[in-house]
Amino acid sequence: MKEIIFASHNKGKIAEIRQILEPLDIKVLSSDDIELPDVEETGTTFEENAALKALSIAKLKKVPCLADDSGLCVDVLDGRPGVYSARYAPNRDFDKAMEMLLAEMEETHWDNRDAHFMCVLVLGYPNGNYTAFEGRVDGTIAYCRQGTGGFGFDPVFIPNGYKESFAELGAEIKNKISHRAKALEKFTAYVKQQGI
Ligand code: IMP
Repeated sequence: MKEIIFASHNKGKIAEIRQILEPLDIKVLSSDDIELPDVEETGTTFEENAALKALSIAKLKKVPCLADDSGLCVDVLDGRPGVYSARYAPNRDFDKAMEMLLAEMEETHWDNRDAHFMCVLVLGYPNGNYTAFEGRVDGTIAYCRQGTGGFGFDPVFIPNGYKESFAELGAEIKNKISHRAKALEKFTAYVKQQGI
């Protein structure tokens, strides 16, 4: 069985990756069974940040490492908060972040509230090589919070083709159409074809 590290402290994401990779005979090690250093996200793009994390841990632990970076990009805000989504509000406070975003967009008409979530997954190797897998979902920023499910900006993001927010749609639908689901699909197809 091959081994890979998934650089994350998010239990939901770790379980999801294990479910996908273990049937492919790949053992996933993560923060619940080994110590993983915190790598500072100093890049200016999702790919740079995900590659920074994946490569520094792959080199340190000498096994391939998968890392992801994601965020919300709002057109009328010139793509903000983007790579800085997690740090948009102090202390990674999701309630505060939504309050700040809705306040910034208070005067913005429905037609100009387009946004998208981006996710880049990077599979990095100890020799410094890496492959990136990108996923994107387009939608609109609601006028107020809708629903309480999910995390982050889910209550204020209405994906195209739906009337409900990600928070209202729930995990089953979100995990089929989200930015992360799309990046994971590409990653899984790659692993099935090439292995790791
Ligand atoms: P991270 O890549 O898990 O650190 O996420 C970066 C930040 O982007 C999160 O803290 C959220 O603010 C936002 N974000 C990323 N993906 C999602 C999502 O699926 N729903 C809501 N917010 C998200």
